[in-house]
Amino acid sequence: MIIVMKAGAAKKERDEVLKRIKELGYKPHVIHGTTRDVIGAIGDERGKLVLQSIESMHGVESVLPILQPYKLASKEIKKNPSIIHVTDTVAIGGKEIIVMAGPCSVESEQQIIESAIAVKQAGAQMLRGGAFKPRTSPYSFQGMEVEGLKLLCKAREMTGLPFVTEVVNPETVDLVADYADILQIGARNAQNFALLKKVGQLKKPVLLKRGMSMSIQEFLMSAEYIMSEGNQAVILCERGIRTFETATRNTLDLSAIPVLREKTHLPVIADPSHGTGNHHYVAAMSFAAVAAGADGLMIEVHPDPEHATSDGPQSLKPAKFLQLMEKLKIFAEAAGRTV
Ligand code: PEP
Ligand code: MN
Repeated sequence: MIIVMKAGAAKKERDEVLKRIKELGYKPHVIHGTTRDVIGAIGDERGKLVLQSIESMHGVESVLPILQPYKLASKEIKKNPSIIHVTDTVAIGGKEIIVMAGPCSVESEQQIIESAIAVKQAGAQMLRGGAFKPRTSPYSFQGMEVEGLKLLCKAREMTGLPFVTEVVNPETVDLVADYADILQIGARNAQNFALLKKVGQLKKPVLLKRGMSMSIQEFLMSAEYIMSEGNQAVILCERGIRTFETATRNTLDLSAIPVLREKTHLPVIADPSHGTGNHHYVAAMSFAAVAAGADGLMIEVHPDPEHATSDGPQSLKPAKFLQLMEKLKIFAEAAGRTV
């Protein structure tokens, strides 16, 4: 456990804490900082919860476990937020909110080019589009695969927008990585450890979505899988979890955003499209996510949602997306960010 003293806590207060640590059967180890002291309580890990009571003592700011089960993703290892550089001009985790927008699936050249031009005009900094689709039903459209990747490249050439696209199994990681700027690991694969390890061996940013029944700790452990293989460029994406609620497709867990910001230095974005499953709610949840501290948004936009091969009901038409982006500027500014 680490006991963090308040800045300017009195020596007497610190001595009381040291005494209490010893009484509880632990050995205190004081680290003197420039503004505050931090005290490590060393001893049996199993009984360490008794130390939590120290939090109510005078001069104590907080009591924290020494090491989370996730280490590389933890703020204990790296205090400052990580900024992930996707291209020379797009960085995630800085002041600028990064919006990745486009259709759920790449369906045709015209559809992806039209989408890319529309989202670029509205101010998105990245294009999204699935070429390999992880569908719940084996009978649903599975994606255009390599053809889809090539079309995404064409859209990137035309608009200058880098793109994020999903990779669904370890066998196709190298192939997808040859084309994409960011590899997406979808909710259904968020605990596919073989896939996580494989993308961990690349030097390419990974957008890791939260599994639909994953706790925040499990989410960070999945990030740890990627990072422990050497790839530190991980972006976390809250995309909604399964709850008893049926009015929305998922429940977008906005509280996960400040929790993650506290626990990890990795950037956090939100996906209000899958988070709600309904285009009517996407703008409101986008603004809320920015207010909650998100570093970016992933939003599904389709030129003709009524005829989309996947996720039409949650996809915004370009005109609605433009309105969202206009209003987003106000919320971003209020949150001390830019778009
Ligand atoms: C997607 O981004 O289209 C997708 C399938 O997302 P998720 O994995 O969050 O369901
Ligand atoms: Mn989708």
